Amino acid sequence: MISQSQHVISRFAPSPTGRMHLGNIFTALVSWLVAKKYGGKWLLRIEDLDPQRSRIEYARQIEDDLHWLGLQWDEGGIEGSDAGAPYIQSLRSDFYNEALAALTEKGLTYPCYCTKADIAATNAPHASDGRIIYPGTCRDNPPANPSRPPAVRLRMPDLKVEYEDMVFGKFKTDMAAQWGDIVLRRADGAWAYQLAVVVDDAAMGVTHVVRGVDLLDSCAPQSLIADMLGVSVPQYIHLPLICNSDGIRLSKRDSSLAMDALRTCFTPRQVIGLLASVAGIMEKPGEISPNELIDVFDISRLPRKDKIIIDLCNRKNFGTAITGK
Ligand code: GLU
Repeated sequence: MISQSQHVISRFAPSPTGRMHLGNIFTALVSWLVAKKYGGKWLLRIEDLDPQRSRIEYARQIEDDLHWLGLQWDEGGIEGSDAGAPYIQSLRSDFYNEALAALTEKGLTYPCYCTKADIAATNAPHASDGRIIYPGTCRDNPPANPSRPPAVRLRMPDLKVEYEDMVFGKFKTDMAAQWGDIVLRRADGAWAYQLAVVVDDAAMGVTHVVRGVDLLDSCAPQSLIADMLGVSVPQYIHLPLICNSDGIRLSKRDSSLAMDALRTCFTPRQVIGLLASVAGIMEKPGEISPNELIDVFDISRLPRKDKIIIDLCNRKNFGTAITGK
């Protein structure tokens, strides 16, 4: 449980790769409520590490959608605030470089010259979800005359990492079997999410990480990297993924529950009311503002489920005033 005296800082960290959907704004609302319930701060961090897919227009649209919903951040965003600079990952390479240098200094990294094809051509082991685990080629036999710039990998220790999520409970991960030597910086210079997120959460003083349950597994490498860097591990709160009426997880490519459709058909109070019922705060969807939810929000009522199906065609989901917009 969070105590009222704890200084809470939570964050919303969207990737600007498309228009937000109901799942993204569910995360935004709950992370905002975690901060506001305990008198803390809510940060907005734009995670534009993927140069091919990220666009500043999407980041602007995210900010506009958050304003429409009534969710105002205290720090960060594209412009920054009185309290500080913009929080945009593409502007934060100095922080990541410093962290990488600290890990390298401790002997915890090594350069890797393998391409994806090189790795695919080996008998690399697989994690339980089918991901290929790097077979350690450049760790064991570094090439004498490499002909291309290297990626940088973490020299993963052979240990099990334990972590606890406030909704889903305790987990233990075998790091060598499930993660292996993960990339920290790609050969093209792009920073890996697992490093950047730890560095940023620590630099920004984040105490509570709220995000979709698809990232629950990432708690293991993130808490390990935090330990390696000597920074504190935040508390984790993972949320079910919102799925459409076919049971398929929403993506930014699927427009049915995207913000433009929601903004065309519903009021902010209706959308917040729906999400409040998903979060276990209201018994059934109604119309309400984020501020009115602060007192009644209760982390212990968040659903411990992987998925929640939302059928937008079911008008009961939006309270009584659905036709009244
Ligand atoms: N940027 C990630 C996303 O949009 C979220 C990362 C996080 O919250 O740790 O899915």
